Amino acid sequence: MRLRSLQVKILLRAISAAQLNSDRLADALMAGRRSYRTLMKTTVALLAALTVAGTARAQSTAPAPPAREIAVTFDDLPIASHALENDIAAQKAVTARLLDILAAFHVPAIGFVNAGRFAPHGPMEPDRVAVLQQWIDAGQAIGNHSYSHLDFHGTTLARYAGDAEHGDSLIRALLLAAHRPPPVWFRHPFLHTGRDSAARARFERGLAERGYRVAPVTVNSDEYLYAARYDRLAARHESDGMRTVAAAYVDYMTQVLARSERQSNALFGREIKQILLLHANVLNADHFGEIARMLQARGYRFVPIERAMEDPAYRTPDRYYGPDGLSWLGRWARTRHNSSARRQAGHVNTLEAISPATRIAARIGRCRRRHWRHLRRHCHDRDP
Ligand SMILES: [Zn+2]
Repeated sequence: MRLRSLQVKILLRAISAAQLNSDRLADALMAGRRSYRTLMKTTVALLAALTVAGTARAQSTAPAPPAREIAVTFDDLPIASHALENDIAAQKAVTARLLDILAAFHVPAIGFVNAGRFAPHGPMEPDRVAVLQQWIDAGQAIGNHSYSHLDFHGTTLARYAGDAEHGDSLIRALLLAAHRPPPVWFRHPFLHTGRDSAARARFERGLAERGYRVAPVTVNSDEYLYAARYDRLAARHESDGMRTVAAAYVDYMTQVLARSERQSNALFGREIKQILLLHANVLNADHFGEIARMLQARGYRFVPIERAMEDPAYRTPDRYYGPDGLSWLGRWARTRHNSSARRQAGHVNTLEAISPATRIAARIGRCRRRHWRHLRRHCHDRDP
């Protein structure tokens, strides 16, 4: 009897230690008080329960993803899908879907506008403005991406600055009409920020005088290639192919994020607040939700670009003037001659998953590296 009593005590202590509160165990214990034989069964049941509890505890103590922050930015507004260039109704539907996903995930995004896309012949075209108005009405931030998506490395400073000012005047008028503050952020087309320090400094002084700040990118990718492929499949109603491209896209972006995290660690010994560049396209309207879930699973919290820019990393000097549309992590790595960060920047090549795009990717990669002056002529799909 004393033995039974001792066993019951040990069982109770074990349960207390395991912080278990299951009816099954309570029942088993009561049974244990009734007979020694039943108690033996109880012991077996308890061991099984403790195993389950141990497993649950092991799962609950699995390392949580680090607390990370990311600003999500979309370029080439009102819409970056060339296939929908003249289909305003489709543009509106795609934009509504994208904005709905952003709202569902509470993403405080910013969209960078090419004003020439809604005022291609001078005056604003109401139908095209209406697409951009959806972003404004949804409360998302709007930035300037120049009027005609000029390449700073392929034109004069005067022309480039004039194009940026033209875009600014139109966007500013729209925001004013919506009782919103004037635009603050400028995103360089092609991430080309000037071929020398003098041109860059003069342009950025002009930006600052108009109240602008440069919007960097730390997560840059070939997302636009997947989007172009997705558009072509959508035009042919090839839903199986679209699903394949979408799955490959999410997998690819997972690797792109991991690359930026590694680069960040190599440069700063920590993970900085990231700034993600995507485009306002059909692929993201259909699949940004999966990207958002992937980001959340990695521990990312969505923050406005202002919050991301509070990270002191963004005060790191950038003396890269080359032809590659590098992310700021890549620029800082070049500026600091940080070979480790440059190694981490290695190409993330998953485009084989959508073989027809592989050749395009390879061709564009070559264009980027060797023929950037003729980028637009040779590489029609490239449009970061
Ligand atoms: Zn762009």
